[in-house]
Amino acid sequence: MEAALTARDRVGIQDFVLLDAYTSESAFLDNLRKRFNENLIYTYIGTLLVSVNPYKELGIYTKKQMDTYMGVNFFELPPHLFALADNAYRTMLAETNNHFILISGESGAGKTEASKKILQFYAASCPRTKLLDSVRDRLLLSNPVLEAFGNAKTLKNDNSSRFGKYMDIQFDHQGEAVGGHILSYLLEKSRVVHQNHGERNFHIFYQLVEGGEEELLRWLGLERNPQQYSYLVQGECAKVSSINDKNDWKTVQKALSVIDFSESDIEHLFGIIASVLHLGNVRFQANTQGYATVNSSAEVHWLSKLLGIRAQVLQEGLTHRKIEARTEEVLSPFTMDHALYARDALAKAVYGRTFTWLVSKINESLANKDSSRKTVIGLLDIYGFEVFHVNSFEQFCINYCNEKLQQLFIQLTLKSEQEEYEMEGIEWETVPFFNNKIICDLVEEKHRGIISVLDEECLRPGEATDLTFLERLEEKIGGHPHFLTHKLADQKTRKTLERGDFRLLHYAGEVTYCVVGFLDKNNDLLYRNIKEVMRLSKNAIVKHCFPSTEPDNKKRPDTVATQFKSSLVGLTEILMAKEPWYVRCVKPNDSKQPGRFDDVLVRHQVKYLGLMEHLRVRRAGFAYRRRFEVFLQRYKALCPDTWPHWKGSAAEGVERLVRHLGYKPDEYKLGKTKIFIRHPRTLFATEDAFEV
Ligand code: ATP
Ligand code: MG
Repeated sequence: MEAALTARDRVGIQDFVLLDAYTSESAFLDNLRKRFNENLIYTYIGTLLVSVNPYKELGIYTKKQMDTYMGVNFFELPPHLFALADNAYRTMLAETNNHFILISGESGAGKTEASKKILQFYAASCPRTKLLDSVRDRLLLSNPVLEAFGNAKTLKNDNSSRFGKYMDIQFDHQGEAVGGHILSYLLEKSRVVHQNHGERNFHIFYQLVEGGEEELLRWLGLERNPQQYSYLVQGECAKVSSINDKNDWKTVQKALSVIDFSESDIEHLFGIIASVLHLGNVRFQANTQGYATVNSSAEVHWLSKLLGIRAQVLQEGLTHRKIEARTEEVLSPFTMDHALYARDALAKAVYGRTFTWLVSKINESLANKDSSRKTVIGLLDIYGFEVFHVNSFEQFCINYCNEKLQQLFIQLTLKSEQEEYEMEGIEWETVPFFNNKIICDLVEEKHRGIISVLDEECLRPGEATDLTFLERLEEKIGGHPHFLTHKLADQKTRKTLERGDFRLLHYAGEVTYCVVGFLDKNNDLLYRNIKEVMRLSKNAIVKHCFPSTEPDNKKRPDTVATQFKSSLVGLTEILMAKEPWYVRCVKPNDSKQPGRFDDVLVRHQVKYLGLMEHLRVRRAGFAYRRRFEVFLQRYKALCPDTWPHWKGSAAEGVERLVRHLGYKPDEYKLGKTKIFIRHPRTLFATEDAFEV
């Protein structure tokens, strides 16, 4: 007994729910720290998994570990991501329903790593009856490709996801992975043309320049030196010690060939990547009237070759826009600033659209042609909450997205859980929690939310500026408790706010946003004539990305923020229709170092991730609930009174059944329509009774 206690002291408790003393935040933190120090990065709160990024390889994702966790009851082994993945999988098979695993946490907390491990687990664990190894390989290899094009080094994370990803893994009724589908969300396109100090562009650019074969580079007109390209050097960190661009290039090459990319696809794809680099090096010179002319014949030559567009046409497109005069269209020349702006807009558009093409190409290759019924497990890995020294439109979108996910978590767990007890007439003392709906509304409400105000300003070209946007915000939401600006702040706080900033009090903390660029980025304008030029391209991907059916500028497309908002509504609907599982990732320190557990930082995350509230609800609540009919149907064979037919009401049948099974009064409660079971162990014992 004593030895057991000592071990427990050392390694902490593996499920927070189980220990009486562990209800204070400090005790919670102690337990996490204790386990972290022993390299035990996983801890449960019931079926929710808390994961602390170890920032080192622990050897816990081997095939042997996978085998260990396959098909074993959740609580019989130490907590692990594989246990959660396995539990979701088995429940899906037993109940023939759809599930999703929501992986959340701030930038660098380990979400993408977790989602990759889960995918590997499914690839290794499900049966292989139809020799569908190719689907499995493609599922796995879609990751390095999407990461190359959609991830980048930021100050927070050397491999930061700059797009949101939701991936359905489809299983047939034998439990075999037979297909997949990916939805991507708002890629941070601005990174293509601008990187902050200490950050990089998307990995693929460096991979190509560092790893591309001599012949390929020659064909693309590239030099083997990232310093040559203005789109690659702004952050002054083209080389990163933790990243091996050369090796990653090889991985991506291999992956592309497995995922059905033809040689011509690959040729066109890298033609585009190289074009973006050449485009970034295009310089302009003012003519005698002060208008921009292209001053980069070499770059234009390569662009012309790679895109298959005549040099003359390209030059004209880069320096003019078409405007409609009374009866005809005339070309209006750009000023120098305007030309640079249009060039960057083109680079962003080409890259962004190519990324969308890439995702749909991968989806074609993952598609399951067989139309028989399938069940899915969705994996959600989205950019985490982030706060930089200067935060812009991108952070605003990313943090809003995290608010939405937190809201979903609240609705699915804290709120619905408590409402259900009430509805079922189960005695329950309400656990208070912070509901971030107020912040979601502040951002997305019609007519007075921040996005609405921004969109309205975007409709006043020529008059509105980023600063008038700020003024409008002050007028409309100036009194909101989660919103602050320099003008609205008190003396003391004012010192921390610049005039062009607004501050939001997010569920995860304060973030100050600089309004510069909000209007532009939200409009994401690309002139019609440059689109027409791209349409002429002989590069099949570019041609596909600029279709002639695209509505022109006369019909206003939705703004970026509004599109993003709609896509998040869509995502919420997808998720709400499935059974949730949660992985909450915690970042132990800000220096990406192993072995360092920063109490203040972790405490903050524990707080905003709502872990304490979740624990309180879990501890007071019931892990498992089923409608009386479903429960009776499943277990009636275990009791002579209910087998084979029970004549009375389902509620009475369940009562008879659990009494026969010897459930103790504190282990379960009968509601109005459902039975509630406090701990999964009780149910495991019942399941095991089948085997006796
Ligand atoms: P972002 O929101 O920026 O995309 P993220 O939460 O996806 O962040 P990851 O990219 O998964 O963060 O993790 C950051 C880094 O932390 C990884 O590149 C890896 O070095 C390390 N890491 C994360 N999880 C683990 C793990 N389970 N074991 C070992 N190292 C890990
Ligand atoms: Mg990530």
